Amino acid sequence: MWELQTVLSALNEREKQMAVKPEAFAEVEREWLGANEEAARLQQQKEGIEKDKRRVDGELSDQQELLKKYQGQLMQVKNQQQYAAAWKEIDATRKHVKELEDSSLKSMGEIEEIDAKLEAGRAANSDLQARYDAAHAEWQNSLGDLRKEAEALRKKAAGIEATLSPRMRSEFQKIYKQRQQIAVSRVGVGGDTCTVCRNRVRPQVAQQLKRGELVHCEGCHRILYLERPTS
Ligand SMILES: [Zn+2]
Repeated sequence: MWELQTVLSALNEREKQMAVKPEAFAEVEREWLGANEEAARLQQQKEGIEKDKRRVDGELSDQQELLKKYQGQLMQVKNQQQYAAAWKEIDATRKHVKELEDSSLKSMGEIEEIDAKLEAGRAANSDLQARYDAAHAEWQNSLGDLRKEAEALRKKAAGIEATLSPRMRSEFQKIYKQRQQIAVSRVGVGGDTCTVCRNRVRPQVAQQLKRGELVHCEGCHRILYLERPTS
């Protein structure tokens, strides 16, 4: 189990190293994310204006219909008073139509402006995208050795795990998950403390440990491993 812990700790170290972004890449990435955000913001703005324009255009076509109706009524007026009233309606509706047309045109202009910005962004972005891809590839290439090492360590860990009894394996995994990926703690040669939490190992527990029994640290509950002199 100590060996498994050693291998897994080495593996975790590699994985941590692989996750660290080099500054060269992080810089391009920030720029890239910023550009994407700006494009998304413009797109959203454009959709808002388009929605508004659809509403205005709908109202415009209603008002144009109304105007036609009033103009038709104008033909049927019977006296001066009705004529004046119909003209008043027509005049007001024309004004409204004009306002709606102006609003629709203004929206169209705004949409064109945003489209131009989006287009310019896309042109600049193709260069940025190329730089982003290159920086990402360079970073990933630099990880080649680490990847190989991590892969070898993963295989080794699986091999060791296969030799453990199911009970030991589940015990190891439980503590590994609960205790920041350290399931086994070493007690150094001639020492009497848990090297992870510095808790002192009682003589009775030390005796059990020497006999090769599975014992847990009374401080951090990790499985204890007694280091033996090498010679
Ligand atoms: Zn401990």
